[in-house]
Parts: sequence; C-alpha cells; structure tokens
Amino acid sequence: MKLSIAIDGPAGAGKSTVARAVAARLGLTYLDTGAMYRAITLAGLRRGTDIHDAEALEALTKIVELDIKSDSIGQNIIFMDGENVTEDIRLPIVNRNVSFVARCPQVRKILVDKQRQIGSRGGMVMDGRDIGTIVMPSAEYKFFLNASLTERSRRRLAELSAKGEEFELEQMMQEIAARDKIDSEREVAPLRPAEDAIYLDTTLMTIDAVVDAIVRAVRGEE
Ligand code: C5P
Repeated sequence: MKLSIAIDGPAGAGKSTVARAVAARLGLTYLDTGAMYRAITLAGLRRGTDIHDAEALEALTKIVELDIKSDSIGQNIIFMDGENVTEDIRLPIVNRNVSFVARCPQVRKILVDKQRQIGSRGGMVMDGRDIGTIVMPSAEYKFFLNASLTERSRRRLAELSAKGEEFELEQMMQEIAARDKIDSEREVAPLRPAEDAIYLDTTLMTIDAVVDAIVRAVRGEE
C-alpha cells in the first residue's frame, strides 16, 4: 500500500496549496477535507437550515450527495447534489459559518467515515484539522503547519485579491481568529497537532520551501 500523509493546521497556514503540490511531487492523491465541511455549510445556508441545530445538520449531511473529483492539476472539484460548487464554497458567508457546522459531532462522524473510506487504499495526502489525530492516525507522515495570524491573514487577502475581491487586513484577522477559536475549542476532534506530527512554522517560508521540506522529510533526506 502506498504511504499517506496528513497535513493539519489553522486557517490560512497554506495547507491546501502545500498538500496539493506535495501530492503532485510524490504521485499521491490529494483530498481537501475542509471542502467537504464547506459544501455541507453551503447546502445548509441555501436551504435555510439552522446551523446551530445538530439534528437538522445531521439530517442535511445524510441527504446531501458529495462527490469529489480531481482536475488535471490535482485540484479538488467539489460537487454537491451534482452541482459544481468549487467556487461557491469559498464565499465569505461560508467562511463565517463553516466552523459552526464542523463542530457538530454528527456531521463530523458522517464526513470522517467518508474521508476514511476515500483514504482506505492509501496513497493520500489529506489536509484538514483532525487528519493526523482522527481521520488517518496511522498515516506514515504527519505535518502541522502554522504561521502567525497576521501572515495567515495576509495570505488569504492575497488569494482573494487575485480573484478581484478586496478585504481589510483587520477584518480578515478577526474572521480567521474567530474560526481558529471555534475549531480549537470544540469538544470533538479539536484542531491540534498529533503527538507524532512534524511542526512547521511557515511564517517566514515560501510555499516552495514548505513543499521541499515536506518532500525531503518523506524521502528521508533530513
Ligand atoms: O481547510 P478549510 O479552511 O477550508 O476548512 C474550513 C473549515 O472546516 C475549518 O475552519 C474547520 O471548521 C472545518 N474543518 C474541520 N476538519 C477538517 C477540515 C476542516 O473541522 N478536517
């Protein structure tokens, strides 16, 4: 069985870009688990589901059909009930609500089961918050990426700016800090490094340098 790699960390730490590049370099398959929580959140917002009602969220998660494909550059394309929602799941309204949905244990159970099923054949690079601790605790390699709040917020602003959307740094910092707080303090599968994870502070690193560090560690070059 091919090896698997878990990459966890807070919002804006560069996980998805890094995870996708690492998967491409090592010939592995990338899964963005955050996209799954985002798709359920989008479904709930569209249907008017109360995102603080665990039973309603559970019912929603059971009926929404999620399908994840990869495009030619390994980017995940997310389908919700047959509709391509890859862009819509990044909307600011989803950013503001996703952590409330993700703290619901029933939602997590359904999505974690799906993630484990996808990962069961190995050869995966998954990124998220609980990959090393819960989803793939037996992954051969685990990394926890972090960066200062300011740097993570700046990176998000740059991504959005590339799409023509402008935000204030202060507003982004507040939004990311609020999401981190809920993700770290929830009862089920809180954001934290696995005991055997390699911790990387990427504040002063480029994406390429982070990818290189991970690939070298996996190849046993350091
Ligand atoms: O990774 P991304 O920022 O897209 O994740 C969006 C949200 O989904 C996170 O803030 C967190 O609430 C939730 N999430 C999670 N567990 C994961 C991946 C994401 O709770 N494995």
